[in-house]
Amino acid sequence: MTGSSENPKADLPMEQSFEGAIERCSAVGLRMSHQRRLVLELLWKEKMHLSARDIFEKINAQGKRSIGQTSVYQNLETLHRFNIIECLERSGGRLYSCRTDPHSHLICSLTGRIYDIDVQLPQHLLKDIEARTGHRITGFTMQLVGEPLQGPPKPANP
Ligand SMILES: [Zn+2]
Repeated sequence: MTGSSENPKADLPMEQSFEGAIERCSAVGLRMSHQRRLVLELLWKEKMHLSARDIFEKINAQGKRSIGQTSVYQNLETLHRFNIIECLERSGGRLYSCRTDPHSHLICSLTGRIYDIDVQLPQHLLKDIEARTGHRITGFTMQLVGEPLQGPPKPANP
């Protein structure tokens, strides 16, 4: 009951929280403009991998305040350059998301949606890879592809 100030519902470490991102921005000297804050808020709210265009449209759909497309692009690039946000190079273009700690991805073969997942590899497998390659493993990310276990019936191919 007591002794811990951590929020058990928080699914991300402090460093990866919205407040953590704001702190990391200030630590590297990034000015927190209104537009930059809007971009960060959107990414942390959606917790998905989104294109610059998605982000632009979602921010403006909120109707609070409009933001220019160029400003969205520039802010995303800057935030990625300082490792505040994640950027994935995909065949369809770049996707951005709010996690920058090491993590893996599951890509849905049906929808193309990318999910962040945390995967641990068994110690004996890591040791085996180290023995085979002569390298100490210091990190890894995996890209998994899968289809929903239960989904809508697939339409016949046209
Ligand atoms: Zn990710």
